Amino acid sequence: MIKKIVIIGGGAGGLELATDLGDKLGKRNQAEITLIDKNSYHIWKPLLHEVATGVLSEQADKIDYTTQGQQHAFQFIQGAFTDLNREEKQVIINNSNNESVSVPYDILVVAIGSTSNDFGTPGVKEHCIFLDDQNAAIRLRETLIAKFASFCSIIDENEAKDEDKIRIAIVGGGATGVELASELPHMVETFGTCGRNKMCSDLLDVSVIEATDRILPALPEKTALGITKTLQQRGIHVLTNTMITKAQSDGFYPKEGDIISADIMIWTAGVKAPDYLKDIARLESSRSNQLVVKPTLQTTRDDNIFVIGDCAYAMQDSGRASPATAQAAHQMAKICYENIINKLNNKPMKLFKYTDNGTIISLHDTAQGVVKIAGKGEMNVKGFFALMIHRLLYRMHQASLLGIVKTIRFVKASKEMYKNKFASIFTHQD
Ligand SMILES: Cc1cc2nc3c(=O)[nH]c(=O)nc-3n(C[C@H](O)[C@H](O)[C@H](O)COP(=O)(O)OP(=O)(O)OC[C@H]3O[C@@H](n4cnc5c(N)ncnc54)[C@H](O)[C@@H]3O)c2cc1C
Repeated sequence: MIKKIVIIGGGAGGLELATDLGDKLGKRNQAEITLIDKNSYHIWKPLLHEVATGVLSEQADKIDYTTQGQQHAFQFIQGAFTDLNREEKQVIINNSNNESVSVPYDILVVAIGSTSNDFGTPGVKEHCIFLDDQNAAIRLRETLIAKFASFCSIIDENEAKDEDKIRIAIVGGGATGVELASELPHMVETFGTCGRNKMCSDLLDVSVIEATDRILPALPEKTALGITKTLQQRGIHVLTNTMITKAQSDGFYPKEGDIISADIMIWTAGVKAPDYLKDIARLESSRSNQLVVKPTLQTTRDDNIFVIGDCAYAMQDSGRASPATAQAAHQMAKICYENIINKLNNKPMKLFKYTDNGTIISLHDTAQGVVKIAGKGEMNVKGFFALMIHRLLYRMHQASLLGIVKTIRFVKASKEMYKNKFASIFTHQD
C-alpha cells in the first residue's frame, strides 16, 4: 500500500520538506504527501517585522499552499492541529469549516513552529501584541497605521509637544524586537510623505526593553554593542537590565524604577512550542513544550513521528539544544527528507548536527552580524554587504520552494509592490 506522509505546519521547515518530498515521491506516486496548515499561505517568518511595518507585502511575497501543492505533487488541507492518536495513527485537526476531522498517516512530521512566551508575566496576554504569524503582523500594522492616523489629526491642528509622542515599547532584545524597532522610524517617515507632512520619526518614542545586560545574546558582545549604537543614533531607546514584572493598559512595570508608559506594547521576549504540544499522546516534551527528538529527528517514543524546526528539542554535542531559528529549521528539513526516504527504503538514518552559519540582524537600510565559515572562523559583516547576505537567505528559501526562475520573477513583482506599497496602505486612511 502507498505510504501516507503527513506534515503539519508549512513554515520555514515544513514547506521545504513537503516540496522536496512531493517532487521526489509524490510525482512518482511512491507516497501520498499531505501538508496541513492553519493558514492558506506561507510567509517566511523572519520577515514578519517587515510585514508589520509595510516594508514587505504579504500579497506579493506569499506562497499559496494549494498552488505549491499542485506544482509539487502534495495535497494541502487547511486546518489547525489539535490532537494526535498514535494508536490509530491519526492526527486530529479543526478544519476550515470548524469541524474536527481525523487525517491518517504512516509517517508524521510535526513542524508547527513556536509561539511567544510571556513567561506567565501578568497582563502581557491582555495588553501586548505578539508577532507570531502573518495575521498578527497584519494586525500590528493596522494598529500602527490607526495610531499614526489619529495622531495626525491632533498634530494637523496643534503643534505636537514632546509629551505627545507615540510611545511604542517592545519587550525583548532578540532579533525580532531589534529588527522590528529599526523599521518603525522609517515606517512613520513614509507615512509623512503620503499627504501628512508633519509626521516624522521625531514623533515616535520607541524603546527596546531587555532583562539582561545587553541585547542580541546570540551575537558577540562587540557586534551587539555596534547594533545598540545604531539603534540609539536612530532615536531608539535601548533599556537593558530592565526586568518587566507586569503589563497594564498604560505600560510596562519593571522590577525596579518607574512605569515605562506606552501607547502600543509589543512582546517579543522569547518563544515556546504551543502549550497543547506538551506531553501530547504521551510523547516526551521539553520545558518549553517542544517534542524531544533523537539525532535522527524521530521522537524518542515513536519512530513514525519526526519533529523539525522550533517545536523540536534536538540536543547537540555541545550540551545545548539546537536553536529556534530558520537556519536550524532548514537544516532539519533536509535531514528529515533524507531520513524519511531512508526509512521507506530500510536504509540507515542520518544524524542531525546543527551547523551555525552565523547571524545577521537587518536594521532597515543596513545590517550587522557575523558569518561563520567552516574551518575559517567568524567574520564580522556590516552595511550593504551584510544586508545583501540577509536578503540572500530569504531568496535562497524562496528558490528552494519555487526554483530560480520563479524566484527572479518574485523579486521583480515584489519590487513593484514595494514602490507602491506605502502609498496604497496609507491612502486608505485619507
Ligand atoms: C520577526 C522575526 C525575525 C526572525 N529572524 C530570524 C533570522 O534572522 N534568522 C533565523 O534563522 N531565524 C529568525 N527568526 C526565527 C524563525 O522565523 C523561526 O525559527 C522559523 O520560522 C521556525 O521555522 P518552523 O518551520 O519551525 O516554524 P514556522 O516557520 O513558524 O512555521 C510553522 C507553521 O506551522 C503552522 N502552524 C502553527 N500552528 C499550527 C497548528 N496548530 N495547526 C496547523 N498549522 C500550524 C503555521 O501557520 C506556520 O506555517 C525570526 C523570527 C521572527 C518572528
